[in-house]
Amino acid sequence: MESAIRTSLLLAASLTAFAFPAAASQVKPGEPPITAQTKLSGGERPPEQAALTLEHVDLAIEVRPEEEQISGIATLTLSTAAPIERLLIDLDKNLPVRAIAIDGQPLDDSAWSNPEGQLAIRLPQPLPAGARVTAKISYGGTPHVAVRAPWDDGFVWAKTADGRPWIATTSEGYGCDLFWPCLDFPKGEPKLVDLHVTVPKGLKAISGGVLKGVDTLADGRTTWSWQQKSPNPYSVALQIAPYEELSASYASRFGNRIPLFFWYLPEKKDKAPGLFAEFAPTLDFFESVIGPYPFGDEKLGVVETPHLGMEHQTANAYGNDYKKAPEGFDWLFQHELSHEWFGNQLTAANWDDYWLHEGYGEYMQPLYGRWREGEARYAAMMEEQRRRITNKAPIVSGKVRTEEQVYEESLGGPSGDIYYKGAWVLHTLRNTIGDAAFFDVTRRIVYGRPDPKPGNFAPRYGSTDEYIRLVNQVTGKDYGWFFDVYLREAALPDLVQTRTGNQLTLSWRAPNGKPFPLPVEVEVDGKIQRVEMPGGTATLTVPAAAHVVLDPWAKLLRRSPALEAVQAQTRGE
Ligand SMILES: [Zn+2]
Repeated sequence: MESAIRTSLLLAASLTAFAFPAAASQVKPGEPPITAQTKLSGGERPPEQAALTLEHVDLAIEVRPEEEQISGIATLTLSTAAPIERLLIDLDKNLPVRAIAIDGQPLDDSAWSNPEGQLAIRLPQPLPAGARVTAKISYGGTPHVAVRAPWDDGFVWAKTADGRPWIATTSEGYGCDLFWPCLDFPKGEPKLVDLHVTVPKGLKAISGGVLKGVDTLADGRTTWSWQQKSPNPYSVALQIAPYEELSASYASRFGNRIPLFFWYLPEKKDKAPGLFAEFAPTLDFFESVIGPYPFGDEKLGVVETPHLGMEHQTANAYGNDYKKAPEGFDWLFQHELSHEWFGNQLTAANWDDYWLHEGYGEYMQPLYGRWREGEARYAAMMEEQRRRITNKAPIVSGKVRTEEQVYEESLGGPSGDIYYKGAWVLHTLRNTIGDAAFFDVTRRIVYGRPDPKPGNFAPRYGSTDEYIRLVNQVTGKDYGWFFDVYLREAALPDLVQTRTGNQLTLSWRAPNGKPFPLPVEVEVDGKIQRVEMPGGTATLTVPAAAHVVLDPWAKLLRRSPALEAVQAQTRGE
C-alpha cells in the first residue's frame, strides 16, 4: 500500500478530483461497525488456527450494488499440522453465516458461533495432525464500508461519471475477513483460489490470476471466474465497473511472454493509453534490476479503482488519476507494481518485517528514476523521502505484530518510517556493500535463490533475520551492527566531527552506545576519500585551512540537525 504520510498531503485534492458522485450511498462510511477482532490482521494467533493451511479456496460472491450487500459461498479446503477439534475461521460478524457443511455433511446451527468475528466451527469428529477437511460456508449481508481506503479497509461503493457502479475492496490493514471467511494472517495465504464474482449486467469483475471464463446468467448478470496461485489473504480483492480493457503480450528478457492488462473507466479513454505505455518499460526495469516478473504465467494486471492504490497480486489497484510528475512516470503505478516482487512474491511472515514490503517498494521509485535519468534524479527523489523520516519508533520490534501495530503511529508503530527510512536503509546498504552484493542479496530474499528464472521459484516468506543472514553470507562480513542500529533503534546514528590543528576526528554516536563502524566518504579541498571507521571512529591529518565536507554524495542515513529543525518548525514547536 501507500504511506498515509505522503498521501495525506494530497488526500483532500484527490478526493475532490475523484468527486465520488453524491452516490445514493445507503451504508455510511465506517458502517456497519466492526469488532476489534475483525480489525486486527496478523499478530499472535491461537495455536489451533496457526496450525491450519488453506490448501484451496473456492469463493463464489454475488455483489448487489443497489443494496450494497453481498452473498457468498466459500468452500475452504484446509489441512492441519496439529490435532484440532474445531475450526477457527476469521469472518466479520456483519456477514451472518447461513449454513456450514463439513466434508459435505451439513452441520446443525448449534455447531458454530461467531460472536466477535472469529467463526468457531465444532467439527463432527476431531482431526488428527496431517488431516484435511473441507468447510463449505454460506454467508452474506452488508459488508463494512471503508472510510478512507486504502488507509482503512472495506468496500468502496463509488460511481462512474455516468452514474454506473464502480466498486472496490481493500483489506491490507483489517484483513481478508472483511468479506470472506479466511485465515487472517500472512501465513494464511491460500495455495490456490478459484474466485467467482457475480455482478449486474454490463459490469466487469476484475481480480487476480487467470480469467477462466465469464458466464451469463438467465437474468443478464455475469459471473467472472478467476483462478490464482498463492495470493496474500488481503490480495483477494474485488474490482467492479463497466471497465474498458487494454492488453498486450510482453516479450520478457527471460524468454517467456507475459500478458499485460489494464482495465480503466470508459471516461478515462484518453488518459489510459499513456499509463499503459509505461507498463513495458517499467517491467523491463524490474526484470533487469531485480529478476523475473513473479507471476508471468498469470498476468500483469492493473485496474482503475476509486481509492489510491493497493498491491493486489496481478490485479494492482490504481487510483492516482493519471497525475503527471517531474520524474516522468506514475509513482503510484510503479510503487504498486514493485509489490509484485516485494510483498507478493516475497511476503513477510510477520507484519513486524513489513519494511521488506514497503522499504523496498518505496526504494524502487528512486531506483527507477536513476535507471531512466541517472544519479541527479535519484538524489532528488531520495531527498524527498529523507524529509519524511520521523525516527519515532524502531522499524522492527522483534515481536509478532498485527498490520496496524506497525502501520499506525497511534499504536506505537514506525508507520511511514517502514517506507522512507526503509528506503534510506537500503540506499545506505547499497552504498556500503556495493551494487553487485546488494542486488544479489535482494534476489536471494525475493526468490530464495540467486539465479531466478521463470519456473524455478515460487512465492515465499521472508524475515528481517533471514535478510541479515543473507547480507552476511553474500559479503562474508558481519553486518549485524548495521541493522541493529538502523532497524532496531528509533534514533539515527550521528556522525560527529572535531578538528584540532591539522587533526580531523570523526566519530559515530549510535543510540544506546551501540557499535557502528560504518565507513564514511570525506571530501577534503575537493578530493573525496573513503575513511574506514573501526570502532566507529577515525582520525585524519587534514590541513587546518582545508574545506571539509562529510559524506558529500549523501550516501549514508544519519542524523541531520537541520532537518530536525525543519520538522520541529512544521510541527509548530
Ligand atoms: Zn506500498
